[in-house]
Amino acid sequence: MDCIFCKIANGEIPSNKVYEDDQVCAFYDLEPQAPVHVLIIPKKHIASVMELEEENAAVVSHVFLVAKRLAKELNLANGFRIVSNCGEDGGQSVHHLHFHLLGGRSMKWPPG
Ligand code: 5GP
Ligand code: ZN
Repeated sequence: MDCIFCKIANGEIPSNKVYEDDQVCAFYDLEPQAPVHVLIIPKKHIASVMELEEENAAVVSHVFLVAKRLAKELNLANGFRIVSNCGEDGGQSVHHLHFHLLGGRSMKWPPG
């Protein structure tokens, strides 16, 4: 499958990885929107939140635990934001489920 994040997960495309285990990997976003902008993805291809099912959803709680760990390691004690854009209206541009971990500045709400 021609999926850029599958290729990053299996090392075919280089990335600046900050964390990896058997289920997920995390790497710095190519176009950072905050001083810290990391993407956390399941290694297994899931297109978006809309493709989550009981059988494949456990990885999402693992992603959040990894986010917590990275937030500590990357000095985001003052707070951070986790975002998963879904579909056209959500602004999703890469169709492999991913969670943006953003921090290092004060976030605005609503995001627009
Ligand atoms: P989305 O818009 O789907 O929520 O987020 C996709 C994100 O992936 C964007 O923030 C974009 O900058 C990032 N991105 C796209 N291609 C690459 C890539 O090849 N490497 C890295 N590290 N990030 C990428
Ligand atoms: Zn993929």
